[in-house]
Amino acid sequence: MEYMSGQLGELVEQLSMLPGIGTKTAQRLAYHVVSMPEEKVERLSKALIETRKKIRYCRECYTLTDSEVCPICADGARDHETIMVVETPRDLAAYEKTGKYGGVYHVLHGAISPMLGVGPDDIRLKELMRRLEGDVREVIIATNSTLEGETTAMYISKLIKPTGIKVTRIANGVPVGGDLENIDEVTLLRALEGRTEL
Ligand code: ZN
Repeated sequence: MEYMSGQLGELVEQLSMLPGIGTKTAQRLAYHVVSMPEEKVERLSKALIETRKKIRYCRECYTLTDSEVCPICADGARDHETIMVVETPRDLAAYEKTGKYGGVYHVLHGAISPMLGVGPDDIRLKELMRRLEGDVREVIIATNSTLEGETTAMYISKLIKPTGIKVTRIANGVPVGGDLENIDEVTLLRALEGRTEL
């Protein structure tokens, strides 16, 4: 990348730090940015900075939100005694898109993975257990059907069992290794409806 100006090289380097963006794509994006009208670039960079500044974790469910409590947790019409546990805010969004789930969520921000060195303390598990001290009737574990997702589901169910709260796991039907966000709504609903008690 010696032939590139230092500034352009810096932009390529920064862009290529984003997931799914290799050096080639980063270069293409960088050249595109140069050709954009300055005010558009300003809007883009402002969106990046403002998003990072304003977005935070919901105090209740730990999804990303721009208020202290997310709109789902703040909604009194939802069933706050049913908590669906998901790995990421994108998984939450996938279930929300079905429009058929009336409970609330808990976002773990990851899954337990001994291989990657991710332990129970590295995800928002303590926060979940704290929520269970309130009135909770059912915890639906909707982690992915990957090895990590299953490990996490087992771990959580063992943790919750002694509390007497009902623990369910979404049905298989969600393809193994499939990211929840890439699964169609019908499959998601079927998985939710066919959940079994652990
Ligand atoms: Zn929330």
